Amino acid sequence: MANILFISCYKATALAEKKLHAHLSLGEQAQLRLHQLICQACNRYVNHSILIDKWLKNREKQEDKLLIINDEEIEKLKEKILEVHKKREG
Ligand SMILES: [Zn+2]
Repeated sequence: MANILFISCYKATALAEKKLHAHLSLGEQAQLRLHQLICQACNRYVNHSILIDKWLKNREKQEDKLLIINDEEIEKLKEKILEVHKKREG
């Protein structure tokens, strides 16, 4: 029974993406949370996904912006992600 709670990184990242756009079942939520507790790489992945998703949604609201994302914006987003890491990991 406990084995179903332990999932691969592949499954964890798929669940993280699903979580951004749909509801996870209670089982899926438990699987993802447990995996995040034991896997720092996926924990980072989840945090990055949330940040990038928020950034994109916020960007969509700005009507004057085109779909093309320029290098300057990408660099700013990278800096933001690195800042979040520094705050969380000291
Ligand atoms: Zn993982």
